[in-house]
Amino acid sequence: MDLPSDIFPEFPAMAPGEVWLVGAGPGDPRLLTVMAIHALRSADCIVHDALVDPRILRLARSEAEIHFAGKRGGRPSPLQSDINVRIIAEARKGRRVLRLKGGDPFVFGRGGEEARALVEAGVPFRIVPGITAGLAAPALAGIPATTRETNHAVILAAGHRADDATAARAWESLAATGQPIILYMALAQLSEIVAACLRGGLAADTRAAVISHATGTDERILETRLGDLPHDVAANGITSPAVIVIGGNVALRHVLAPGMIKP
Ligand code: SAH
Repeated sequence: MDLPSDIFPEFPAMAPGEVWLVGAGPGDPRLLTVMAIHALRSADCIVHDALVDPRILRLARSEAEIHFAGKRGGRPSPLQSDINVRIIAEARKGRRVLRLKGGDPFVFGRGGEEARALVEAGVPFRIVPGITAGLAAPALAGIPATTRETNHAVILAAGHRADDATAARAWESLAATGQPIILYMALAQLSEIVAACLRGGLAADTRAAVISHATGTDERILETRLGDLPHDVAANGITSPAVIVIGGNVALRHVLAPGMIKP
């Protein structure tokens, strides 16, 4: 890459037999890290998830093999253990393997499990962080994750469980902190999560925002209140992937959005 070498020391070569676990950011290729671009231009084999934007895969070398390891057409996703086996097998063949994940590999990306499997298999690996959707999507909608006026902490939560008493109580405890909650993967269990947050003490008129397909051409932003969230998400036909923010920081959008340059 043509970058000043005094500021960007040489990029580490991706050696045969290595696996790089790389975050691809929220979608827009311009939000990739330079390390991610370097990895894309080096890899022999790329194993990617459904959330990786197709434009990003076009940065791969023309000889690179591209493997899809996500959910397709409603079929169940491949088992995590199968993905681990595949990555390890490719590395052992002496390939330079890029395991590419949406957002950041260590934020709800199972990167931790894959890294552990690589350690156990004795395969050397490198982690390249990415911009997580839970922070990028709200930011691009004019919602700061924290501001001094509204919150001193922020909760990143995976929304797929709220269906039993223990899971519901966990949501109530998160809500009871009063700190904004940023939800990933929450559309399927939204009614249960919202009910638990209300029981946990959040007011029904707590501000909420939903950002779906952030940075894509089909991006949508919906603003509402906690109590109306499940209804409004359904009524507006919001589809996955979506990030949901619940908390007072959402109000900042009204101050910031009017001045923000459109992408
Ligand atoms: N490792 C990823 C998260 C994987 S979990 C990261 O750090 O971003 C998948 C969830 O991420 C989706 O269900 C959705 O909640 C969120 N997500 C990923 N990309 C998104 C996008 N472009 N717009 C909105 N939400 C997104």
